[in-house]
Amino acid sequence: SVALVWFRRDLRLQDNPALQAALEAGHTPVPVYIHAPDEEGAWAPGGASNAWLHRSLAALDADLRARGSALVLRQGDSRAQLQALIEETGAEAVYWNRKYEPATQPRDARIKRELREQGIEATSCNGSLMFEPWDIATLQGGPYKVFTPFWRNALTRMNIPAATRLPQTLPGHAAEGVALNTLGLAPTLDWDTHFWEHWQPGETGAQEALSVFIDGALNGYRQQRDLPDRVGTSLLSPHLHFGEISPWQIVRRLEAERSASRDGDIDGYIRELGWREFSYHLLHHFPQTPEQNLNPRFANFSWAKPNATQLQAWQQGRTGVPIVDAGLRELWATGYMHNRVRMIVASFLCKHMRQHWLHGARWFWDTLVDADLANNTMGWQWVAGTGADAAPYFRIFNPVTQSQKFDPHARYITRWVPELAPLPVKARFAPWQSPSLLAELAPGYPAVPLVDLAAGREAALAAYRHTG
Ligand code: FAD
Repeated sequence: SVALVWFRRDLRLQDNPALQAALEAGHTPVPVYIHAPDEEGAWAPGGASNAWLHRSLAALDADLRARGSALVLRQGDSRAQLQALIEETGAEAVYWNRKYEPATQPRDARIKRELREQGIEATSCNGSLMFEPWDIATLQGGPYKVFTPFWRNALTRMNIPAATRLPQTLPGHAAEGVALNTLGLAPTLDWDTHFWEHWQPGETGAQEALSVFIDGALNGYRQQRDLPDRVGTSLLSPHLHFGEISPWQIVRRLEAERSASRDGDIDGYIRELGWREFSYHLLHHFPQTPEQNLNPRFANFSWAKPNATQLQAWQQGRTGVPIVDAGLRELWATGYMHNRVRMIVASFLCKHMRQHWLHGARWFWDTLVDADLANNTMGWQWVAGTGADAAPYFRIFNPVTQSQKFDPHARYITRWVPELAPLPVKARFAPWQSPSLLAELAPGYPAVPLVDLAAGREAALAAYRHTG
């Protein structure tokens, strides 16, 4: 009998619970991906995500072909496409791994109900989280809003599932699909060319990135993860977002590496995966938060009016604050930004510029290869001070001291804002404080910051004093 295996955000073959379940039930799997961005509500994938997706789908298809199968691509209404495929292939069952976004969760629930009503077996699995968002609850049975108790509870339930093994060959079954190029995911202007010097989308690329991390940055991860001037983190976020690797696969590999000297780094890393779990927990329980403040105190907060000129300077990395500009230029060039710098550029936007965090969240959404509704929403609300377990609004990052602390030799700044290289290192953190040097040695760089740091900070604090 035939089963459709509906790939979505689980673009891997190994340890893929939906594919595995279809095989174990004795079905011939027909792997299908349906391109339906309209069904993602206000958060259809952005440009960088689509560029990644294009390559990830190509990799998945190649991996399937190497095993005697192939990926069937379709586009249009997901329900209608599944129905058409059921009729064309005679499938008796549909398997998929869950997605947790507020737009597609109800869609999937409806599709499951309708399929079952028509006598088709419909099975959904957990392929991307360690814990279902609803499985971790407070003593009162409600959601957590604070990370530490959430994670403490989660750790008591940590049962690492055994790895599953996929057969070398998969039974093939022909079904008609469209060519990958017709989905229009790859950029038409080649703005992504340089991305691929940094990334290899797909399951093989994900496994290789994990090996590189284990042999390299894992050693000293806890100390180095905050330093943007080096590769101090795993760079697995886009692979995790697209499900090219699962958190359990990572945890199993890390557990195999345990030793007294590595314990701290391994636990520190798994705790970061815990933040990802927490963000999905929040998104599930507070589905309004991609657009609305989680903390109602901010309902009437006086954000500044949207300022297109300022926002554009921020997006293009021309604010005159070097660490902020470096971060936004890294983002534009690579589709990625270091976590510490994400916090700094976000704080500058929400606090010094007093622009609503959604302006920043939307820009990240379009430009990050790891854009992820749960993580991005939590990240922005956390920095803005409007979210769960947030930094208090009045704790305002000073971008200059942040860069002196975390990029002490200005290596990161100089890499992404090379026009500051002629300045002495000490002057690269706040070049406006050395006006004659700046004018002489880096005349192309803004002479003063977009927002005066002290005045911006005061204005943000004054606005905060007026909230609820
Ligand atoms: P590592 O340090 O190697 O961490 C391993 C994994 O743990 C990451 O891949 C990620 O899945 C998870 N993780 C680490 N830190 C966090 C965190 N703070 N919150 C949630 N999960 C985390 N991450 C995204 O994946 N997508 C986003 O759209 C996103 N937007 C963000 C926006 C803002 C304003 C901020 C402050 C953070 C955002 N993050 C986002 C979280 C974090 O910056 C990235 O996950 C991290 O930089 C990815 O690099 P890495 O894989 O090398 O991280």
